[in-house]
Amino acid sequence: MKVVILGGPGAGKSTQADRLSQHLQVPCLSTGDLLRSSLQSVGESRAAGITWADRAKVYVERGELVPDELMIAFIRDRLSQPPYASGWVLEGYPRTAFQAEELDFLLDSLNHHLDWAIWLDVPETTLRSRCQGRSRPDDEPTILERRLHNLEEYTSPLLDYYGHQKRLLRINGEGDPNAITQMIMAQV
Ligand code: AMP
Repeated sequence: MKVVILGGPGAGKSTQADRLSQHLQVPCLSTGDLLRSSLQSVGESRAAGITWADRAKVYVERGELVPDELMIAFIRDRLSQPPYASGWVLEGYPRTAFQAEELDFLLDSLNHHLDWAIWLDVPETTLRSRCQGRSRPDDEPTILERRLHNLEEYTSPLLDYYGHQKRLLRINGEGDPNAITQMIMAQV
């Protein structure tokens, strides 16, 4: 099973992606978590040359989207590796129409297809208050505003993209996380 989980900052993507990957027994790949954790090792790896994380750092710190060409090359490399051959849950990817199209091309070339795009629907006021309760550097107010803008501008169009493909599962992401997990598992 191949599933992507989409939604805004604080929508609960990470929690639901972890649970779903355990339930489906496939690996979970979170681009946001991966970028955040690799930022900590940026600088230590200078001797080895400029890495993917070095190039992505400046964007993540500002709450901007990492350029499509960087993200697409990274995902292409990861998903072509053996642990991902039998399925995966992608969290926070794709986030632009171009990333979504390229993911479809990649899957076509591997003779696979996406099963579901799950959109965790949470109003912006709730996203804001959830992020205010966290202490991540990219939840700082001006950065958060940029992330919310990017959600609206670049990621929301994916609702139409996956809607047309009849792969969209739109889930109410407000309320009890366990009930949300049940709702997702009942439908995938
Ligand atoms: P997240 O925790 O999923 O909101 O991701 C944190 C940050 O990582 C985002 O604000 C972006 O800077 C970057 N990021 C994560 N996933 C992507 C993606 N698919 N495309 C571009 N940038 C991304």
